[in-house]
Amino acid sequence: MVSAPGRSLWADTVPDDEHARPDPPPPTTVVDVAIVGAGLTGLWTAWYLARQDPTIRIRVVEREHIGFGASGRNGGWSSALLPMGLDRIAARAGPAAATRFQRAMYDTVREIEDFVVAHGHPDLFHRGGTIDLARSAPEEERLRDTLATYRRFGFGESDHRWLDASEARTVCGATKVGGGLFTPHCGAVHPLRLTHAVARAALGAGVEIQEGVTVHAVHEHRLDTSHGTITADVVVRATEGYTSGLDGERRTLLPLYSLMIATEPLPAEIWSEIGLAGRSTFADARHEVVYGQRTADDRIALGGRGAPYHFGSAVRPDFDTDGAIRQRLIDTLGDMFPCIREASVTHHWGGVLAAPRDWQCGVRYDRRTGLASAGGYVGDGVSTTNLAGRTLAALITGSDDDLLTLPWVGHRSRRWEPEPLRWLGVNALGRAARLADRNEQRTDSGSRVWGRVVDAVRRS
Ligand SMILES: Cc1cc2nc3c(=O)[nH]c(=O)nc-3n(C[C@H](O)[C@H](O)[C@H](O)COP(=O)(O)OP(=O)(O)OC[C@H]3O[C@@H](n4cnc5c(N)ncnc54)[C@H](O)[C@@H]3O)c2cc1C
Repeated sequence: MVSAPGRSLWADTVPDDEHARPDPPPPTTVVDVAIVGAGLTGLWTAWYLARQDPTIRIRVVEREHIGFGASGRNGGWSSALLPMGLDRIAARAGPAAATRFQRAMYDTVREIEDFVVAHGHPDLFHRGGTIDLARSAPEEERLRDTLATYRRFGFGESDHRWLDASEARTVCGATKVGGGLFTPHCGAVHPLRLTHAVARAALGAGVEIQEGVTVHAVHEHRLDTSHGTITADVVVRATEGYTSGLDGERRTLLPLYSLMIATEPLPAEIWSEIGLAGRSTFADARHEVVYGQRTADDRIALGGRGAPYHFGSAVRPDFDTDGAIRQRLIDTLGDMFPCIREASVTHHWGGVLAAPRDWQCGVRYDRRTGLASAGGYVGDGVSTTNLAGRTLAALITGSDDDLLTLPWVGHRSRRWEPEPLRWLGVNALGRAARLADRNEQRTDSGSRVWGRVVDAVRRS
């Protein structure tokens, strides 16, 4: 059955009894901690806070419903990836801090795995690792560089290893595979089930979740909302791709769309060709990112960037789908796995993620103003939100925790340029990535000009 455009596979496959259904909170407008956004950042923060100190009164305020944002719609890679890469962290904080941060991400993947088991849903996280496929000579060069970087920072074969062509094809039988970079530090998750599981845990720990309330502005110790003012010692902004809609935050984070498709469940004969028996999440190393997973119900869910950035950082429901991107994803799927060209694509949806100007995510808390925030994960937020939630909880409760020494704590990115510079620059970058990929496909050699443009701008 083909679902309505914009409706995600995940929304269609959450068992009814797993929905978190908060009761309307009591009428009081004074709480200890008010959190804006019931995505994974807001919910993990609430849950860890409530666990650390059950006496804290916590209210999560959500404009739509739990898991409405990227947390409920993503590609389901619970990975240890950080958007900025180890060299850039090291340039700011030193190599030892970069290594510690990466290890904290490996632990975070384990933390999420433990959480789902402890909460009775072991099936919603499947640790199959990730394979990045080298499907051309320049892709292989980039992936070997990535591996060399991991080695320089002290990570060995058990964390990241090179697979030759036949090993890589056994993991994921795509076409043109010349090798691959494999890491065990990733699980395939059903993202909306995960988000509801965290929300249920938070509700169980006494957190209040208020849906259908829009926050217009975040102030010191106060939220202005569509339903009046909420006063709190601490206010946490966890609005990620939607941040540009808040008063005064238009240029804080850039909303970027990522769009997905999912096939119908595929039969066993097809899986015997494709592989993915261990449900490794998969990608290749093109510039215009694509990412895929074999779902628990035997579909392929594939996503990719490449949707345009919308002038003025606009975010609208009709941007969640795009006929041209849908077709590009179908073509990519057919190119990687010709045996599923005839399979129906049952879902097409998208969502908005957030890019900081320096591509470096951060967690911040100012005890004096009571203002806290976390985000800027670009496309790597499923696990990072958990680390952010634990870190915010430690900051707010004043616990002495090693997490507080990680180099993203307190990091602030500069603001994006005003329009039309933002629109011109970001969309030009998107076109450069597409051109670099096209050149590489045609020539099987690195696209010097466009590839360098993309790399240089991402580093700037
Ligand atoms: C299509 C797609 C695929 C992705 N794939 C992956 C992946 O495979 N792996 C990975 O690690 N990351 C992935 N990401 C990124 C990841 O999903 C996000 O980084 C992460 O979910 C961010 O969580 P969050 O809670 O910070 O934000 P969100 O989940 O976006 O939550 C923010 C919430 O705030 C609410 N809100 C916003 N403004 C207001 C307001 N003014 N008042 C009240 N409420 C408000 C929103 O309604 C929303 O529910 C993907 C993202 C997308 C869009």
